[in-house]
Amino acid sequence: MKRTGIFFTYFQGERLRDFPQALAGLLDKENVSYYDAVYDLCDGLYYLAPVSEELLLKVHSQGMVQRIKLTGNYESAAYSAGGTVQAADEIWQGKIDNAFVFTSFGDHHAGRNFYGGMCYFNGAALAITSLKERGVKRFVIVDTDCHHADGTRDIFGSDDDVLHVCFCHQDYYDNHRNVDARIPYRASDEEYLSRVRQEFIPRVEMFKPEYIFWEFGYDATQGEYGDKGLTRDCHSKLAQLIKGVADRACHGRLITILCGGSGRSLATYIIPRIIDCLAELGRYQ
Ligand SMILES: [Zn+2]
Ligand SMILES: [Zn+2]
Repeated sequence: MKRTGIFFTYFQGERLRDFPQALAGLLDKENVSYYDAVYDLCDGLYYLAPVSEELLLKVHSQGMVQRIKLTGNYESAAYSAGGTVQAADEIWQGKIDNAFVFTSFGDHHAGRNFYGGMCYFNGAALAITSLKERGVKRFVIVDTDCHHADGTRDIFGSDDDVLHVCFCHQDYYDNHRNVDARIPYRASDEEYLSRVRQEFIPRVEMFKPEYIFWEFGYDATQGEYGDKGLTRDCHSKLAQLIKGVADRACHGRLITILCGGSGRSLATYIIPRIIDCLAELGRYQ
């Protein structure tokens, strides 16, 4: 069984209103650890810390960090990115194998000197920067949010140690091994999953990363603001595929980061199933 860390922050909004209660039945499992930004349980053992400004400035420009301080969302953005940085650190220390990171603000539209689309800091980029300082060399980022990951591409577009595979609205390949794979406006679950099998899985097996980061958004689900026709069950199938290749390629080191998606009932349905898959609990099969 894999040891799974859940990194939880919740500041505002509808979509995570059912959490952490919706994780009942998962949190009491021996191989599941819960890290919370609000409740300092167990004498800080599982406290989730915000990302430090020192690390922020290694990825983002000083001007951008200052601008975000003026938005009023700095604190929740710092906790959101902090969950990903801490998840990577806990995996590096061998305390957990994989992670699910709840966020108030996502990642992938945050570049070195710009942000937008409800993304302030790029948690995956911050975690990768932190791991690189410890000698970890090769990373994969896979993005199944509906939208193109312009911020992540801005940061890692010419970094040959980071393979970025983004499922979005265009087909694109460059000589730094970055890939965009187009998902048509109306796609069945099976079409989406076969794109992932073709465009992602073999590349990971060739690239041999040490960590995989999954920018998981559910905004392409039916009824969401980026609706491409996917059913709510597509995401746990994606989790099985991505976890499977992480298990084969990099000892299961997989960090799943919540990105786009707004519906509360979809979040409450999908997220526990993804965590169930990560922790190999089999409660939903
Ligand atoms: Zn999106
Ligand atoms: Zn893209």
